[in-house]
Amino acid sequence: MKALLIVDVQIDFLPGGALAVPGGDSIIPIINSLQPQFDLVVATQDWHPREHKSFASNHKGRKAFEQIILNGLTQTLWPDHCVQGTPGAEFSPELHTNKIEAIFRKGTDIEIDSYSGFYDNGRRKSTGLAAYLNGKGVSQVYVTGLCGDICVHYTAMDSLKEGFDTFIIEDGTCPLVAGDFEQTKQEFTVAGGQIVNSASLILAK
Ligand SMILES: [Zn+2]
Repeated sequence: MKALLIVDVQIDFLPGGALAVPGGDSIIPIINSLQPQFDLVVATQDWHPREHKSFASNHKGRKAFEQIILNGLTQTLWPDHCVQGTPGAEFSPELHTNKIEAIFRKGTDIEIDSYSGFYDNGRRKSTGLAAYLNGKGVSQVYVTGLCGDICVHYTAMDSLKEGFDTFIIEDGTCPLVAGDFEQTKQEFTVAGGQIVNSASLILAK
């Protein structure tokens, strides 16, 4: 069984948002057109308390995009984004959400960030996503969403580690930094992942 995983297609990550991915909105029609091709559609949602320590605003004298050590892990400091219950944390109104069967929230612990939809950055806690997919009988996971070089990458790498055949749909994702995406795609394929595009999936059905 094939699952489509939609990572963090939230207002704060889209043009005009607090941590906007350039051109991030271009992938939404593609994700919408892909959804009917899949047996199961699941989403993740970045969902931070306002006091989250990944926010530069919670560290005196620090600026966004600086790096610190947070509880033993290197942490990039971000502008405040996807704060629980705020409009910026909502999914894009353009994203079709009716077919999404479950939403896994991440980044809820103020002490640790969570780029992957499966585990926090220290692999200290699971979101339950792997158990859920296994429980549904999923063997293949297709990853889309934002952003290609960070949360999509870490989610796809964890999906491989959890034993799923894992695909990144290249035109269904968009990077924050294009050069970083070239590197993360290579890491993913070296680890056994596959990069595909949406046209091949729609034609294959
Ligand atoms: Zn975040």
